Amino acid sequence: MTKISSTPTVFSLPNSKWIKDFRQKLLAWYAEHARTLPWRGTTDPYEVWISEIMLQQTTTATVEGYYCRFLKRFPNPQMLAEADNSEVLRYWEGLGYYRRAVQLHRAAQIIVSEHHGQFPSTYDKILALPGIGRYTAGAISSIAYHQRMPILEANTIRLHSRLLAYPDDPTKSYGNKLLWQMAEIVLPEQDNNAQNNGNNKQNTQYSVFNQALMDLGSMVCVPKSPDCPNCPVVKLCQAAQKGLQDMIPALKKEQEFEERSEAALVIEKNGKYLMMRYPEGVRWAGLWDFPRHVVLSEQPLNYDTDFCLAIQQMTGYKVTILSPLTTIRHSVTRFKITLNVYVAEVLENYGKSEYKIQWVKEKDLIKLALNTTGRKITKLLDTDQRSHQKTLKLF
Ligand code: SF4
Repeated sequence: MTKISSTPTVFSLPNSKWIKDFRQKLLAWYAEHARTLPWRGTTDPYEVWISEIMLQQTTTATVEGYYCRFLKRFPNPQMLAEADNSEVLRYWEGLGYYRRAVQLHRAAQIIVSEHHGQFPSTYDKILALPGIGRYTAGAISSIAYHQRMPILEANTIRLHSRLLAYPDDPTKSYGNKLLWQMAEIVLPEQDNNAQNNGNNKQNTQYSVFNQALMDLGSMVCVPKSPDCPNCPVVKLCQAAQKGLQDMIPALKKEQEFEERSEAALVIEKNGKYLMMRYPEGVRWAGLWDFPRHVVLSEQPLNYDTDFCLAIQQMTGYKVTILSPLTTIRHSVTRFKITLNVYVAEVLENYGKSEYKIQWVKEKDLIKLALNTTGRKITKLLDTDQRSHQKTLKLF
């Protein structure tokens, strides 16, 4: 395996001839290969914003299913700002990283209260909204407001690292600064399309160029086995020339996962299920779930275990476990979680709960914004849980 030398103190950016050639080749390729996506073609800053927030850490294939549905229900900042937080989360359910939805809702309220319901048009004001960083502000500014703003996200970080054959971690200080410079210098100097377009529903050259960079990164310069033979800029790519494309960007240290055991309880009373809502500041804030907590002991879960006492504190109910229902394995951030789901019943009501709770009819569970495992459990209620309960009555 070829060893890559460490970063020199000064890493050269391409010259003007390279840049001109790169722009031409990229735009010619994009004219033929641009992806068709629901948010492509819009210059409405609100719509661009929704798409960019949804696309953070989520694939385009997943976002496609959510974007139109979300915009249909919340077509402008006012409608989003006036909506109940739990409804916004319900429309976000399954996309993950729910903090994004909470910040989106907050930002919409700021747009209404501080910007008269109009999405701000300057980079600094966009950047000041909750949940918007340098990349998102740049994307909105270039796509919606025709401003010459560079962008740098996962696809373009990889693409620029390879074009420059930058060997070190591109997210560290020096690499990050270098790649932002690269993203800026490759952008066209002036927007040839803008004069013709004005503010109509056409993308300008800056937005086209930024989208072309992202498409090349996600379709050709992919993380594993980039398609260099079919890449329009292969002759300009330092990594390809040096045979280093599979080693760049430098891999981050693999995340170490921690195993964790948790339990969730399905508690039914008079045809209703006990549900709890996660408060601010904890995982899944604002979402509903079946009462759930970490299990620290391997002993059987009786009503006096730490687990049941924690459930009692959260919900105000003293409970006892009746029987196992199912096991779900999933990951959240650095945790690999084994979630054991049990049928349980209430022994006593203490009345005071730390979390907001509600008894919900089975048919109304669909209206609650649930986390993914909560939704999985609801799908079992029709079948397994009823048969379990029938079995339980035999004891
Ligand atoms: S030549 Fe290969 S490594 Fe270089 S930009 Fe194209 S696909 Fe990426």
